[in-house]
Amino acid sequence: MLENTQANNTGKRLISWKSILGLGLALFIVGGLVMLVQPAAAQTADGSLTDEDIASLLYMREEEKLAHDVYVMLYDLWGAQIFNNIASSEQNHTEMVLALLNQYGLDDPAAGNGVGVFTNPDLQALYDDLVSQGSQSYEAALLVGGLIEEVDIADLRAELENSNVAAIQQVYQSLLSASGNHLNGFANTYENTTGKAYTAQLLSDADVAAILSGGNSSGHGNSQGPHGSGGGSGHGNSGGQGNSGNGRGSQGNGNGGRR
Ligand code: MN
Ligand code: MN
Repeated sequence: MLENTQANNTGKRLISWKSILGLGLALFIVGGLVMLVQPAAAQTADGSLTDEDIASLLYMREEEKLAHDVYVMLYDLWGAQIFNNIASSEQNHTEMVLALLNQYGLDDPAAGNGVGVFTNPDLQALYDDLVSQGSQSYEAALLVGGLIEEVDIADLRAELENSNVAAIQQVYQSLLSASGNHLNGFANTYENTTGKAYTAQLLSDADVAAILSGGNSSGHGNSQGPHGSGGGSGHGNSGGQGNSGNGRGSQGNGNGGRR
């Protein structure tokens, strides 16, 4: 900017000497201003958000709410503690995204919406469909849990690619890590309940295998059953109350297997 000012002053002097040279300098200055303006419009170094970032935050606010709301409904239906535990983790997640909306002065799409109500029509339809599926049986409900986590993982990975904002990336990384733990929890509970292996529903088989075997040991050993099926032994306290936003509730204590 200082250089441009100096060039401008020099340019004015040059115009009085030789107008054609002055025109060249003027074009140079305009070009410099365009270069100064362009980066601010195209990236987010100043902390402002792109349209894509905004759309992403609005969507993730409701996607995390969807996970919470479905698990609340499935806990009501089946009484299995895993749904209750992971629902409270999802409540934390949707509130983490809300904090970002507030930080950037964006309107909350979930404001005033109770459980099962969504502003985004796609998420409303998905919620209705998932609750319907999860109402069929406890086994189906566990698969709904796995599917929600797989969708969440796929969406968060894509959104992480699309944003350069550190505050957003930090939150999304945390949600992604938790979703891996939740997928572990649902897959293990499904296997312990049915005796069948959990198979990938949206992600690739290799991807799910990597997530289920990967790093984090939490999420293993949950075999709690739904209400009424375990002679009262199926409702032990989950041992998985982990650190905030990271897989809370995905780890059971392994007691109370169904039947
Ligand atoms: Mn989540
Ligand atoms: Mn989750």
